[in-house]
Amino acid sequence: MTAAKLRRDIAATIAKLAARGLYFGTAGNISARTATGFLITPTGIPSEDIRPADMVAVDMRGRHKGKLLPSSEWHFHRAIYRDRADVKAIVHTHSTFATVMSCLRRDIPGFHYMVAKAGGPAIRCARYATFGTEALARNAVAALGRRRACLLANHGLIAAGPTLAAARRLAEEVEALCEQYWAALAIGRPVLLPSAEMTRVVVKFRSYGRQPKTD
Ligand SMILES: [Zn+2]
Repeated sequence: MTAAKLRRDIAATIAKLAARGLYFGTAGNISARTATGFLITPTGIPSEDIRPADMVAVDMRGRHKGKLLPSSEWHFHRAIYRDRADVKAIVHTHSTFATVMSCLRRDIPGFHYMVAKAGGPAIRCARYATFGTEALARNAVAALGRRRACLLANHGLIAAGPTLAAARRLAEEVEALCEQYWAALAIGRPVLLPSAEMTRVVVKFRSYGRQPKTD
């Protein structure tokens, strides 16, 4: 995929998340891996004003090209790309319900089988660190492990995937799960699925939705 196409795809991802109310103002950032590093949304520009040309190329040593500065959270994007060869795109939002749960600093347990879509029996909440720091990058990598999503304490969510579309859809799903978990906690005590069942569903999701190859 060309860099020009990736730039357009990042802009389209912002528009889709913004249309659902999950991405607003200067909160959140999105990146996609390139041959030499990654393209990431710029810092300080409101999401509705970001154009494809504004995405900033950052290499794996953290050097950027162009006149715009990359999102202040480029550290955790780089750390995740370094740690995970399978990750090609990362979406970070301050969407409301994920942020609410992150402020409670609690993992999202297996209250619903869809939690396993993020790659584990729970969606972990990373330890708190100041935004834009290497400490936050380390905490995010630790919370993600081999999974595809995590919360960041008192901050928001991270969703990672093999494509921008996959990372965006997972961010939308994690936000929906956080809202559902909040609602369940508000009126009672959610019944958690047994860990054996969550393990079974994690395995099932690895092959779910794949169409059989026709050639
Ligand atoms: Zn943030």
